Amino acid sequence: MKHYTNGLRIWDNPQTEEVGDTVEEFLRLLGGPTWLNIPGKDPTRSRAIVTLLHGNEPSGVRAIHRWLQIGIKPQVNIAGVIGAIDAALAPPGFAFRTLPGRKDLNRCFREPYDSPEGQVAKEVLQRLAHLKPEALIDLHNTSGQSPCYTITTKMGDKQKALTSIFSNQLVITDLRLGSLMEATETEIPTIAVECGGNRDPQSDRIAFDGLTRFTQTDSLFPSGTSQPNVQIFEHPIRVELRAGMTVAYATTPVDEADCTLRFDADKLNFDMLHPGEPIGWIGPHQLDTFLARDAKGNNRVQELFTVVNGELHIAQTGRILMMTTDPMMASSDCLFYFLPCADR
Ligand SMILES: [Zn+2]
Repeated sequence: MKHYTNGLRIWDNPQTEEVGDTVEEFLRLLGGPTWLNIPGKDPTRSRAIVTLLHGNEPSGVRAIHRWLQIGIKPQVNIAGVIGAIDAALAPPGFAFRTLPGRKDLNRCFREPYDSPEGQVAKEVLQRLAHLKPEALIDLHNTSGQSPCYTITTKMGDKQKALTSIFSNQLVITDLRLGSLMEATETEIPTIAVECGGNRDPQSDRIAFDGLTRFTQTDSLFPSGTSQPNVQIFEHPIRVELRAGMTVAYATTPVDEADCTLRFDADKLNFDMLHPGEPIGWIGPHQLDTFLARDAKGNNRVQELFTVVNGELHIAQTGRILMMTTDPMMASSDCLFYFLPCADR
């Protein structure tokens, strides 16, 4: 049974034969941001899965669609939220993080909720507050190549246990952007999962396997078991272009761009990098091309990078994550995050 609220469609108990043969057909059937209710063996408990907050990140919704097609009854009630369906369906498909002129849904989970995306976010939060799920996972992809890792804004044993369903790498961030996990962190154990690159079939497998474990296990947080072996990375710094600056990705410096990053820069994601590692080339604005903001709002660009004969080098030991090689992504969101390494 489907019905509508303000911005969110509600679909109770979707049946295997109703969800379409392909994920694209599934999205067309949904038609807009949707909350799914899937009854479980134990109807007194529930868990929540959110995905497709970004239209170019398909692994989570592919996993939900495949899982609904198989029709395995989950251990507890499952709420599934599928977000930016119009952005995902815009040709050529799964190409737009958000539609041009629209807001990034995963930056709208805080006041003011004064946009169509904000209304959807507000309604999702109201429903989550009412549902009180045992845990919430928010499935994403990176736009460049990357291993799978998870992110939380609040560290605890439950966030580590949720991470271990997908990965053994957990990033804790104190950056505040208006994302879903910031809004739910005190009420519901929440992680965002970066399943890996959005064109990598391995990311789809990771999302599906993790979703299966998340929905089928009886206890997400069994007492008396040993702590999961999860590696923790603390407090990424967000590196973005200053307004009006441009980036290119190439094997040699591009004169028309204010900076050029290596065409294969996304291969660096999560590798330990040391001072002197070249990541690209810089134009006449030098390091003023970038802003590198930490959670306190300080610009850390001078600590992170050096310029040597026009080459841009890493200046301290650390890791890069969420590096894209898509200039549109880089200017609409950020270039990458840098995780300084404590043992430098
Ligand atoms: Zn995302």
